[in-house]
Amino acid sequence: MNAVAATRARRLAELIQLFLPEGRIGSVIAGEVMPGSGEEIELVDAFTGRRLAAYADGGAQAADAAIAAAASGFAAWRALTASARGRIIWAIGQQVRAHAAALAELEALSAGKPIRDARAEVGRVAEMFEYYAGWADKIEGSVIPVPSSHLNYVRREPLGVVTQITPWNAPIFTAGWQIAPAIAAGNAVVLKPSELTPLTSLALAMLIARTEAPAGLVNVLTGQGHTAGAAAVRHPLTRLVVFVGSVGTGRIIAGMAAEGLKPVILELGGKSANIVFADADLDRAALGAQAAIFSGAGQSCVAGSRLLVERAVHAEMVERLGKAATRIPMGDPLAETTQIGPIGNLRQWRRIDELVAASVRDGARIAAGGGRPKGLDDGFFYAPTVIDEARADMAVACEEIFGPVLTVIPFDSEEEAVAIANATEFGLAGAAWTRDVGRAHRMAGAVRAGTFWINAYKTISVMSPFGGFGASGHGRSSGLEALHAYTATKSVWVETVANPPVAFGYAQER
Ligand code: NAD
Repeated sequence: MNAVAATRARRLAELIQLFLPEGRIGSVIAGEVMPGSGEEIELVDAFTGRRLAAYADGGAQAADAAIAAAASGFAAWRALTASARGRIIWAIGQQVRAHAAALAELEALSAGKPIRDARAEVGRVAEMFEYYAGWADKIEGSVIPVPSSHLNYVRREPLGVVTQITPWNAPIFTAGWQIAPAIAAGNAVVLKPSELTPLTSLALAMLIARTEAPAGLVNVLTGQGHTAGAAAVRHPLTRLVVFVGSVGTGRIIAGMAAEGLKPVILELGGKSANIVFADADLDRAALGAQAAIFSGAGQSCVAGSRLLVERAVHAEMVERLGKAATRIPMGDPLAETTQIGPIGNLRQWRRIDELVAASVRDGARIAAGGGRPKGLDDGFFYAPTVIDEARADMAVACEEIFGPVLTVIPFDSEEEAVAIANATEFGLAGAAWTRDVGRAHRMAGAVRAGTFWINAYKTISVMSPFGGFGASGHGRSSGLEALHAYTATKSVWVETVANPPVAFGYAQER
């Protein structure tokens, strides 16, 4: 494994070199790499469990420099016409397309993501910039027919510097998802990716710097959350905080934003209910249930981690999913055949294993998987796992696991399915599988979730709003809604007559 690890580390160094001058890892500020001077942060290969590379934490110093760069990038961005901004955002999408292969390989190697998923996600990033490029010159205001002699119109204005903090599970996808609407709305960005997976976000910032975008429009910080991230969130010039990550960190960030009276968009975790009725096409439903929980090794905020199954088909579904779980090709993220890669990091692997072990101690039954899969002795692999006979109060039935672990829960009626689905603090996503069209729409209305699928799972699009209810967060970060979230309205009053009957709030003497 040593030789394999060394070859992979060398390949990573080559890929880094394609994007970052001299292959140095550091914050990308105004198109330049600024190496950190804080504690060393190690990047570990999830496939081998060995060191891939290391870099120094940028800390508050890098955060201050990035925010200052973004403030001047914002001024220059605002000075351009909206159509010029749109052309530049389009050009960013083209840069992503032109470097798609290298970006996908960098993501696969450094984030442990199967190459086929990484390719698809990089393609989606290009689409995000293309979609929002079209919006840049269509952010219109309105005229309000006020009951006075004033012309009252409403402008939609950017907020300024936006600080965005992202997690490790889909680094470049999340970076594009947040950066594209922010800049289309006219803002400048400081993005702090997860310290575990910063490389593709840094590469994206360097690609943006190759376009006509003003220096400092998009800056990416390297470092820990409590160092670089917190400093950027707290900085007085940060006008909006966008956080994608866990509920616990979301709470801390929302607190910091509240202290500075800053608005915040939170995209947090989930425990989404995937509900299968007995009348569903069970072949499709079983396939959908696998994709919902096992793709990305379950490290997806919208993972369908609770499978609610109508009792008549419960045993059949458990058997089908248990069999399927053992057949999905797992292995090297760089291999074309791999459908499931490793867990992103050792801490997360241990958390998954502890939750599964606790459920067994408490009386749940493992129908498939549990622990390390056979034949994959290195790295952070976790076997696709199906848990049956779990009680509703067990952690596997109510906490986000963020791994390939499915908890199957039987139900007897539509009402009970809705009650179980909604018996969670989360509200990110959900799905129903049924041939009854009326019931499908009743479920869509009744389940508390920001995204709901009918006879489908996991499709999302930059064109459609995405976000959560309750502990899954608030605010929406795609579609037209994101443009609104990244702007504020300004009401402008213009007196149109020389001698108005009512002026400054007082009736005029005539
Ligand atoms: P995390 O909360 O541990 O970390 C996310 C980011 O926050 C990282 O960049 C981290 O450095 C930063 N951070 C940590 N402490 C901070 C602090 N005090 N100040 C500022 N920044 C800080 O999350 P994770 O483990 O990286 O990611 C997994 C979580 O992300 C899961 O809960 C998952 O559901 C969630 N997620 C949500 C969405 C969504 O859109 N709803 C998408 C992907 C992932």
